Amino acid sequence: MSGSSFKIVSGKRKFLFCTDSEGAGDFYDLLQRALSEKIPFDFHIFTEGQESMLKNWFSTQKMGTYLYISGSAEFIKMVKELAFGAGFSEQEIQTAMRGFLPKKLICCTCHGENEAGENKFVICRLCGQELEVSDHYSRRLDAYLGYVTIK
Ligand SMILES: [Zn+2]
Repeated sequence: MSGSSFKIVSGKRKFLFCTDSEGAGDFYDLLQRALSEKIPFDFHIFTEGQESMLKNWFSTQKMGTYLYISGSAEFIKMVKELAFGAGFSEQEIQTAMRGFLPKKLICCTCHGENEAGENKFVICRLCGQELEVSDHYSRRLDAYLGYVTIK
C-alpha cells in the first residue's frame, strides 16, 4: 500500500493531523487540500512521552474539529484512547494503519482467540471451525468477530 487511505471530510472547521515519526508523508494529500481550501489545521508528530501533551491538545479543540491519525496499530490505539477521553467520537476520527497488523479474531463458536493474519479465512485453533474474518469489530473485545462460513 502506498500513500494514504485517508478521505477528506468536508464541512469541518479544523483538522488535526497526528502521526508518529514515520507517518508524516501519509498526510501529504490532505495537507494540500487543507491549504487550498484554507481549512485551519494543526500538525503534530508524536515522540515518546508526549501523552499528556496530546491530551491537552485534544481537550482544547472546539466542536467541528476532525482528527486524522496515522501510524502503527499501537500508536493509533493510544492516540484514539486519548482523543475519546477528550470527547472525540468515532465519527470525528479517521485512521490509517501502517505496516502489517495481525487482527485479533474471536471465534463465534467457542469464543477462542485467534490471529487472523491477512487471510480471509482462519481455522479456529481451539475448536477447528473454519471462520470467516468479518469487518465486525468489537471495541469491547478489541477484536474482530469470526463467523462460521456456510457452504
Ligand atoms: Zn473456535
